[in-house]
Amino acid sequence: MKVTILGSGASSGVPVIGCDCAVCTSKNPKNKRMRVSVHVEIGNTGILIDTSPDMRQQVLANHIRKVDAVLYTHEHGDHSHGIDDLRGFNFLNQASIPAYGDARTLDLLKQRFSYIFAPPKPEFGWFRASLTAHPVQSMQRFSVKKVKVLPFSQIHGKITTMGYRIGDFAYSTDLNALDDAAFVALRNLDLWVVDCQGYEPSFSHSHLTQTVSWIKRLQPKRAILTHMGHDMDYEKLKAELPPHIEPGYDGLQITL
Ligand SMILES: [Zn+2]
Ligand SMILES: [Zn+2]
Ligand SMILES: [Zn+2]
Repeated sequence: MKVTILGSGASSGVPVIGCDCAVCTSKNPKNKRMRVSVHVEIGNTGILIDTSPDMRQQVLANHIRKVDAVLYTHEHGDHSHGIDDLRGFNFLNQASIPAYGDARTLDLLKQRFSYIFAPPKPEFGWFRASLTAHPVQSMQRFSVKKVKVLPFSQIHGKITTMGYRIGDFAYSTDLNALDDAAFVALRNLDLWVVDCQGYEPSFSHSHLTQTVSWIKRLQPKRAILTHMGHDMDYEKLKAELPPHIEPGYDGLQITL
C-alpha cells in the first residue's frame, strides 16, 4: 500500500491570503500546505479521500493516474470543492466514479453539484465530472474493488465526519473528539494520519496536546499530523515531537 499526502493544510491553506506571519512567509517548502487530501494505492486500485479545492494541482504534482473511488470525509468546501476536476478521471476510466460517504454528506454534495450526480452522458466525452453516490454507515465495512474499507464516525463541532481505515492505515481529519467505536476502529495501526490544526484548542478541530494524547492511547507505529494551520512551523514542530510522530507535508509518501 502506498499512501500519498496530497495536502496537509487547514481550510485556508498555508500561506493564508493576506498574512505576513513567519510561517506564511517561510521559504521552507514544507510550510506550503494545500487543503487536505490523501491518495491510497493498493495493488491496482486507487482511492482518493476528498476532492480538495487544490485537487487538480495535487494529482498533477504527484502523478496520480488511478482513482477508482472517492471517499468523502464530509462536505466542507476545503474537502469537496475540487470535485469538477474528477472529470479527468472519468475520462481515464471511461466510467462514472463511485463516491462513498455518510448520507448527509452525499445529500449535501448532490444539492450543490446536482449535475455531477445526474445520469452520465459519456457520448459528450466526459466533459463534466460524474459520480455515483454510495452512502455508508459508521462501522459497516464496504469494498472498493477488492479493497476493504472501514468507515467510522468522528465528532467535528456540530457535525460528524467519517474517518476511514484501509488495512492498517487510517485517516482522521476534521475532528475534535472520538467516541468509543472510533477508538476500537483505530486499534493496532501501522499509520494514522490525524487532524492537528494548531497549538490552541478549537471547537471543531484537534490541537497538539489532544492529538498527542490520542496517539499515546492508540499506539500506532507511526502518526502523521495534518490539517495544520499557520501557527505550525514544520521544523519547530518536528523538533518537539518523538520520532514516531511527525508533521505531514504535501507530497509525503509512505509505503506500508
Ligand atoms: Zn477541513
Ligand atoms: Zn500566517
Ligand atoms: Zn470540516
